[in-house]
Amino acid sequence: MQNASHRSASARGAKLKIKKGDMVIVLCGKEKGKKGKVLEVFPRDGKVIVERLNVAKRHARPSRNFQGGIIEKAVPIAISKIMLVCPRCSEKTKVKKRKVEDKLIRVCARCREVVDKVK
Ligand SMILES: [Zn+2]
Repeated sequence: MQNASHRSASARGAKLKIKKGDMVIVLCGKEKGKKGKVLEVFPRDGKVIVERLNVAKRHARPSRNFQGGIIEKAVPIAISKIMLVCPRCSEKTKVKKRKVEDKLIRVCARCREVVDKVK
C-alpha cells in the first residue's frame, strides 16, 4: 500500500493558520464580531467558510426540481478578515507555531494552549 504523504503540499499553502473545525471571529465586514466554526478551508483562495456566517440569501425561482424560495448559501470569508479564537482563553488570538517532535503545532499566542489536537 502506498503512503500518500502530502509533504510537498505544505510548501505553497504553508501560511494558512486556520484549519477546519477551528473557532474563529470575524474582524470586519457585516459579520464583524461574530464567532463561528470553520466548515471549509480553501487554501488557494485564502478563504474559509464559517458556520452560519456570511450567508447570502437568494430568492430562487421555482424549477423542475425545486419549488422555489430562499436559498441560503455560505459565502467564503477571506482569512485576513478572521482570527482564531483560542479554545482555552476564548479570546481572539494570533497563532504561533511550535515544533514538537518534528511536527509543527499551533499554539495560542496568549495562553500558549495548544490549538491543534495532537495525537
Ligand atoms: Zn489562549
